[in-house]
Amino acid sequence: MHSADIADASVLFVYALGQALQLTQPDFQVSDILHIYIQMISLQTVVHYSLHLIAPALIAWIFFRANWRVVYIIFLLTMLIDLDHLFTTPIFDPHRCSIGFHPLHSFFAMPVYAVMLFIRKYHLRTIAIGILFHLFTDTVDCFWTFNGCESCYLNSEIYKVFSALGLN
Ligand SMILES: [Zn+2]
Repeated sequence: MHSADIADASVLFVYALGQALQLTQPDFQVSDILHIYIQMISLQTVVHYSLHLIAPALIAWIFFRANWRVVYIIFLLTMLIDLDHLFTTPIFDPHRCSIGFHPLHSFFAMPVYAVMLFIRKYHLRTIAIGILFHLFTDTVDCFWTFNGCESCYLNSEIYKVFSALGLN
């Protein structure tokens, strides 16, 4: 069985589940949950979370082998910068690019992380590497989204910076 077949079968399953739920709750929209589910299993999402979870383990293993477990845990903890999403509504919007938008993903925060790279104390360097890799992952995700959504690009902070630099 191909993974695509499994994905198709699972979409049908979620659809059937949605239909069943609609019987008990008339307000429930099957298309809404189907849309969220298809987004969840999309290649973009799978790549995004692999970069967030698996790639840091590889970086820790390759470059910090002596204490890769501690380094990996610190890398995972740097995902906490996503808590800055809590200051916006909606908290999650698949069409919004986080880069430059949220405070800890802003272009003002980035130089701070760059400076932290040179401080070999209190794990600051490891934290900075984790955060910068996180921002790289989010950037990949943004451009992937821009590819299929021109307005997403035009509304992004990346677009504003590119425009200011005359790169558009
Ligand atoms: Zn993020």
